[in-house]
Amino acid sequence: MNLSKQLLLHAYYLASLPQRRAEQRRRCARGTEPVRMVFYHRIADVHPNPWTMNRRSFTRQIDWIASRYDFVSFAEAQRRMRSGVNDRPAVAITFDDGYAENGDFAIPLLLQREIPFTYFVTTGNVLDQTPFPHDQDRGTPLAPNTPEQIAALAASGVEVGAHTRTHADLGVASEGKIEDEIAGSKEELERIIGAPVRYFAFPFGQHANMTPAGFRIARDAGFEGVCSAYGGYNFPGDDPFHLQRFHADPEILRLKNWLTVDRRKLRDIQAFETCEIASDGTGERFVQEGALG
Ligand SMILES: [Zn+2]
Repeated sequence: MNLSKQLLLHAYYLASLPQRRAEQRRRCARGTEPVRMVFYHRIADVHPNPWTMNRRSFTRQIDWIASRYDFVSFAEAQRRMRSGVNDRPAVAITFDDGYAENGDFAIPLLLQREIPFTYFVTTGNVLDQTPFPHDQDRGTPLAPNTPEQIAALAASGVEVGAHTRTHADLGVASEGKIEDEIAGSKEELERIIGAPVRYFAFPFGQHANMTPAGFRIARDAGFEGVCSAYGGYNFPGDDPFHLQRFHADPEILRLKNWLTVDRRKLRDIQAFETCEIASDGTGERFVQEGALG
């Protein structure tokens, strides 16, 4: 984010903060407070890239969230959505892909603080120990987690979720391929952890990467919920099968802007839903900046 954009966002955030706080108090009083879900990819101080956050920034974000929100598991988030009532500000933490370096700092930090989180894994890369396609494309072959690490995570109580076998774009895949990527990754992951896998995250996670067939196949495969990554909130009464996440932007101001519920974002989300119904559009103009699952 360039300086003038950052200053503008800062001014907007500060000016609207009293109103955001008042709205949150009102939502809590009425039981209409949304559950926020954020996604990270890789926490490391070496080989920075658009999906890596350094350790200091990660710690700062977790501290900021911890001082203002309850951390909740997916099961608890869905319980609140299903019940139609949520009176407490809450955040669920997630990671996508399965980067080995997360085991050096981020995972121990969350486990030590007893913060629940969901860890989505692209099974083919973990099983073959091949770098993810997006890292191969950039010439930085970063290591994925090993199957042993994933099994240990699950054994320590972390919710391990599936993120396809090959990190494929399911928005342009055949039904057979979608089936193989969704149901196949569930089977592979269940073999790795020796327990049921309950959640799935669509790679890239934008509107264009998720289709009705993908939702149906995930439901039929036995998943209890699927995640998007285009940016959205989970309100009580919303469909608890679709868990809407936003990017844990390394720029903490952008993350705070999402967490404290930006009215403009809500308006964009509602406008997208309206235009999607009206024209079956892909909603590309509402793609969240710099954020792909
Ligand atoms: Zn991903």
